[in-house]
This record gives sequence, structure tokens and C-alpha cells, in this order.
Amino acid sequence: MAPLVTEAIVLHAFDYLETSRILRLLTREAGVQSVLARGARRSRKRFGSAMDLFAQGIAEIHFRPNRELQTLGALDVTRARSELGEDVGRFTAASVISEIVLRFPYEESAAGIFDVVEECFDRIGAADPGRTLDAALGGAWRIIAHLGFTPALDVCANCHAPLDPGIAVAFSHSAGGALCGRCGTVAAGSRVLPPPARDAIRMWMNGDDAPPLTTAEARAHQRLLREFFQEHLGTDRELRAFRVWEQGAWSAA
Ligand SMILES: [Zn+2]
Repeated sequence: MAPLVTEAIVLHAFDYLETSRILRLLTREAGVQSVLARGARRSRKRFGSAMDLFAQGIAEIHFRPNRELQTLGALDVTRARSELGEDVGRFTAASVISEIVLRFPYEESAAGIFDVVEECFDRIGAADPGRTLDAALGGAWRIIAHLGFTPALDVCANCHAPLDPGIAVAFSHSAGGALCGRCGTVAAGSRVLPPPARDAIRMWMNGDDAPPLTTAEARAHQRLLREFFQEHLGTDRELRAFRVWEQGAWSAA
């Protein structure tokens, strides 16, 4: 079987045995793939910076039938994205994006997801260190929208009544978005979404930038995003990157 040659981004990487590394790649043509890079730790020459998180390049993947782990023949890096590793806020933001792509339950064939993720890493890499939170929130909602999980924002998620854009609404993760006053009063466990927060999510999903967030607004958005994500995952398994990101351990400096 001829190897697949496709663009790929490293979303996760860890050492395997003494000399190798296992990577989880988002590929342009074959969704997410786990690959073994044999000898990668022994020979930096062969794989170079391709073993680093968020690197992007042309991967040569050798598939074997009925295997979950494929073999990486080569990964020729076109963009190392070292700017994501140089700032802890950017790194944490990019890690959350990786966690979303790796854990969200979507069809692997989701067309165009590669472009959305690529653009998201680029925006985080270009973000001012003080604005990495905004860049990650925007990218996360764009990815979620692209995967087909857009929450209702302008009509009630339950009864489909139009919602006044100028008022605070209840947002219910289980209902799938914003609720009208009538449905909101009977929904358990919903969050209050003020108009600027609803506007920001709408802008992000459209691929636009939202006005800069205050610290309190950013925190509320992080929590809302994590709860939305957890609702769709349907599991309590820990979201490690989210935890680090939300706790803001990176901002202690
Ligand atoms: Zn309603």
C-alpha cells in the first residue's frame, strides 16, 4: 500500500520506549491519526522539529490495515510554530485547541477542519501575550461551529422564538444554546448570558474578532466554553489543558 502524503499538524506528542515518539496528527486528508515515529529521539536529523507540538508540515504515513497506530515515514516541517512554545499563555491556549480537536466527537471526515485549526494556531501565535485568551476562545468557537455544533444564539434553543439581541438570556448547555424568558425559567443549570457575551460568541463563530474582554468576562467565557464542551463529551474525564488554562497558572508570573 502506497504511503499517504498529506499536510499534518502535531496536536499531541509523547515519548515511546527509549528511542521513539508517538504523535497525534491532524491531517488534511485523513482526519486525526496516531503515528509512531521510530527512532525519532535518537536521530534529530531525521525528524528535526517535527517532533514538537503544533509543528506543521508534509507527513508521509504508512498505513497498516486494522491498526490504530500507523507509522510515520517522514514529516517535513514547513512551519515549526516556535512562537507558540515561547510564551506560556500562547502555549496553554494552543493546548486547549488541541484538546478540543482530539476529544470532540465529530466525523473524522469533517471537511475543512484542517484549515480552521491551522488559522486558529496562526492567530494565537500572532496574538499579543495579553490577548491569547481571546484568540483561543475565538478559535474554539469557530472550530465548534465548523464541526456542526453551533449553539442557538438568536432564537430560543427550545421553542425557536426569536430572541431580542439587547437582553440578557439564559444559556442552557443541555438545550443547546440561548433560551427565551419562558423556556429559561424552567431550564435547570443554565448560565446567564449578557448581550456582549452573546455578541462575542456570534462574532467568533463567524470568524471575526470580538472586542477585547475584561479579565472577568474572559473567565466567564472560559467556563461557558468548558461546560459546553463537557456537555457534548458526555464524560467526566479530566480536561487537562482546560484545567491549566482556566486556573491561569501561566499568568502567575
Ligand atoms: Zn423558548
